[in-house]
Amino acid sequence: MRLSQYFLPTLKENPSEAQIVSHRLMLRAGMVRQSSAGIYSWLPMGLRVLRNIEKIVREEQDRAGCQEILMPTIQPAELWQKSGRYDDYGKEMLRITDRHGRDMLYGPTNEEQITDIVRTEIQSYKDLPKMLYHIQWKFRDEVRPRFGIMRGREFLMKDSYSFDLDFESSKRAYNKMFVAYLRTFDRLGLRGIPMQADTGPIGGDLSHEFLVLAETGESGVFVHKDLLEFDIPGDDIDYDDDLQPIVDKWTSLYAATDEKHEDGAGAELGDKLLEARGIEVGHIFHFGSKYSEPMGATVMDKNGDTVPLQMGSYGIGVSRLIGAIIEASHDDNGIIWPESVAPFKVGLINLKSGDEACDATCDKIYNELNAAGCETLLDDTSERAGGKFKNMDLIGLPWQVVIGPRGLKNGMAEVKNRATGEKIDVAIDQIVAKFTA
Ligand code: ATP
Ligand code: MG
Repeated sequence: MRLSQYFLPTLKENPSEAQIVSHRLMLRAGMVRQSSAGIYSWLPMGLRVLRNIEKIVREEQDRAGCQEILMPTIQPAELWQKSGRYDDYGKEMLRITDRHGRDMLYGPTNEEQITDIVRTEIQSYKDLPKMLYHIQWKFRDEVRPRFGIMRGREFLMKDSYSFDLDFESSKRAYNKMFVAYLRTFDRLGLRGIPMQADTGPIGGDLSHEFLVLAETGESGVFVHKDLLEFDIPGDDIDYDDDLQPIVDKWTSLYAATDEKHEDGAGAELGDKLLEARGIEVGHIFHFGSKYSEPMGATVMDKNGDTVPLQMGSYGIGVSRLIGAIIEASHDDNGIIWPESVAPFKVGLINLKSGDEACDATCDKIYNELNAAGCETLLDDTSERAGGKFKNMDLIGLPWQVVIGPRGLKNGMAEVKNRATGEKIDVAIDQIVAKFTA
């Protein structure tokens, strides 16, 4: 992409409405714009990051054996009346009436919808287990939408649902998602720490929230420091293996949010206990027959008996993750994207647009990098050098390549690593190889 043609409305000043750094930087880097409270439009740069996160989430769901579907945003109220949640959900649910006077709603989540699909299509234990997911916009009329997309009213969520014949099998599904979540957050450059969460009337211990540590996080957290060092399961993980040892290991050390934490718990850990703040980026939950029973989602078991499906649901806050990544990875000059989600890998700066030699060299590198699959943003504007550097630091691409008349004479470019700030001189004819080898 050529910056001269790109729709990238960056801001030089800090917008006054933004209280936390990720919100400030998303506005300044031209990623999103507010439409109304807690509802945002995604501009090209923001959308590229959102899509990159989705891709990683999708790959890890697929790897764990979860199949992608797509359910609607608008749901009929009857399904929620049937589960009993239509009244319970209260004012957070956006209720809509269609022209025929039918009660509809903009889905805050999809347990009812998916239970309805599965109860119609799955009748026998032979069709189990199944795990299904989608990545779809949700609406929750939050009392206090704030911090930009971090707590929005409209937000993008990945939600998966598992269907099993019995508890043991359901627990295997839960473990798969547990491991998939560890891997997903790791690939996004984050440490998502599983913490005990409420199971409500369901009971048991199969509910974990995954939190990323950040000073601006909305939850207080108490975490055994060793959890920050544990190894993440590799991409050779076999999801058909027994994953219980991995889950046991990760849940063997103390980690709880302030909602679950009891005064003095973990005190014996001394300075191994970290008291900090965190952002909830995911939540996995086994809830047995909570929806299948009232909604009549049953199957025939081996003995010919009719039993309700055992279910779990597993959410990831896809849009919130962008905020979490920026909170975890920025400096005074702007965002520092991890390569896995960066909107472009390389920012190519032409220090003297209009200079024939600089233009020709930049065009050549730009074309070759893109052709080799290395996504590159070329700053071909007539902005002053200082402004170009500032802008590139703000938008946070992992690598900057600077082409100017002086270096060009010696056949050299300057390459800067955004994260470390390290600058090295690289021969111009080696640039493409450096990023594509
Ligand atoms: P929270 O406690 O933050 O309100 P929740 O427990 O209501 O979240 P879940 O129903 O578990 O959220 O939803 C799954 C995931 O969706 C959450 O872990 C979070 O990452 C994300 N999420 C929930 N609400 C919002 C929101 N208003 N804006 C952005 N992301 C959200
Ligand atoms: Mg939750």
